[in-house]
Amino acid sequence: MVDNYRHKGLRKKLVETLRNKGVKNARILTAIGKIPRHAFLDRAFEDWAYQDAAFPIGNEQTISQPYTVAYQTDLLEIQPKDKILEIGTGSGYQAAVLAEMGAKVYTIERQKTLFDKTNKLLQEMGYGQIRMFLKDGMEGLERFAPYDKILVTAAAKTIPKALKDQLAIGGLLVIPVGDQEGQVMYRLTRIDVAKFKTEKFDYFRFVPLLKGINP
Ligand code: SAH
Repeated sequence: MVDNYRHKGLRKKLVETLRNKGVKNARILTAIGKIPRHAFLDRAFEDWAYQDAAFPIGNEQTISQPYTVAYQTDLLEIQPKDKILEIGTGSGYQAAVLAEMGAKVYTIERQKTLFDKTNKLLQEMGYGQIRMFLKDGMEGLERFAPYDKILVTAAAKTIPKALKDQLAIGGLLVIPVGDQEGQVMYRLTRIDVAKFKTEKFDYFRFVPLLKGINP
């Protein structure tokens, strides 16, 4: 993977664009300024990598728009050493942003082709500390629960119960909820075992959260 001055220049511009759109969190901007997003797209689309746009990554999936990545990351209030579960690894870019911010990342993908490709890429890029699982993320990842933060990067019709159950007390769950026309970004805070605070934010459009794995 080549990361040259042109890429670095484009990345700086992307950070500027995000700042102008209202992203204020310096730690998020630093991570985005550091990660070669073009490595997460096919070579032919290199020039698209630093547009603030979502982009197809194969298997009918997309790499989230940088603004969306920044938005969800901001709502998660990431602290170094946070244990985070991400549902919908996709390209691996969002997981890389969380890892750059010092979080301990567990991420789940349901499509084997994407899982294999991204697993290899993250290893090659030196993100061996990100742990990837081929699973149905709606069930969460009981083995390493509870999580300080849980992030869902696909559109959920309803909030999967397993994810609420696997959240630490005081933990945050960020999840887009709605149909394919659009979703509202939700943030749940687990106040107590059975008590959650719910906040609603802006509208977004994600690919759907689907049941089962696609081998
Ligand atoms: N976070 C990704 C964006 C991924 S798009 C990135 O930074 O690129 C959403 C991803 O969620 C897709 O790869 C899709 O296959 C995956 N997905 C959908 N339903 C899922 C489920 N139940 N469990 C795990 N992954 C799922």
